[in-house]
Amino acid sequence: MNATRALGTVYLVGAGPGAPDLLTMRAVRLLERADIVFHDALVHPGTLAIAARAELVAVGKRCGKHSTAQRFINKRLVDAAQRHAVVVRLKGGDPMLFGRAQEEIDALDAAGVPWDIVPGVTAALAAAAEVGVSLTQRGVARSVAFATPRVGEGEQASDWVRSIAAADSGAIYMGVGQAATIAAALIAAGKAASTPIAVVENASLPQARTQFLTLAQLPQLDASAWSGPATILFGPQFASAARAAAPGVAETRELQQAHGKRTA
Ligand code: SAH
Repeated sequence: MNATRALGTVYLVGAGPGAPDLLTMRAVRLLERADIVFHDALVHPGTLAIAARAELVAVGKRCGKHSTAQRFINKRLVDAAQRHAVVVRLKGGDPMLFGRAQEEIDALDAAGVPWDIVPGVTAALAAAAEVGVSLTQRGVARSVAFATPRVGEGEQASDWVRSIAAADSGAIYMGVGQAATIAAALIAAGKAASTPIAVVENASLPQARTQFLTLAQLPQLDASAWSGPATILFGPQFASAARAAAPGVAETRELQQAHGKRTA
């Protein structure tokens, strides 16, 4: 670390999947104290409103443009810490999953800027809550993998499919635009074509939407019909939810809400 005397601390804060009331209390307290907030594009306006005294700076790169944009964000965080006591970098879901947090942490370390991490509810967990199906289930699913097929510009292709195909259930982030590729890769890696899938869009928000299909049907997913952020869940446990949804997704949501009330 070099000896830059930073005035402030940079907090990498999880904004959760969307609904402002899924923020942690620690996130809320930091947002209330924040002098400046650098936020992703998808952060809910109700969440930003909590940062009442902060300067708000949108730094969203939807679908991760290139690394120059990331380097620019890193630099802005370092600069902000020279001028402000509480700098918040607000990231969708949890900052440590598919959020390029490590690049920001490394840049802050290199500049001698203190930082801290505040976890958030990641999309996979909000999606499972939306469907009302546990990601793990005794005797059915004992392992869960989180993966993304997306690689940034200039990065090497990753062997994302091996680990997730070996897991009982999985959550695929940033995958809706590559449904056919994902289905082919999972089937080639040994997943049954009949594996149940739930695609969940805008989990935690009133406009949440779920579509049930099988791995064999996944290529039929119409990417243009999914404009919000969506996560692809798979696992044997989604079969029963799919059956319940067969008469129509709206009915499933009513069932889930009734279920939610019973167990609340
Ligand atoms: N750090 C984030 C993930 C960032 S990558 C987290 O922990 O959740 C962005 C991807 O997250 C989207 O492409 C989508 O796959 C998923 N995602 C984010 N918000 C979502 C939501 N409300 N519902 C479903 N998927 C979501």
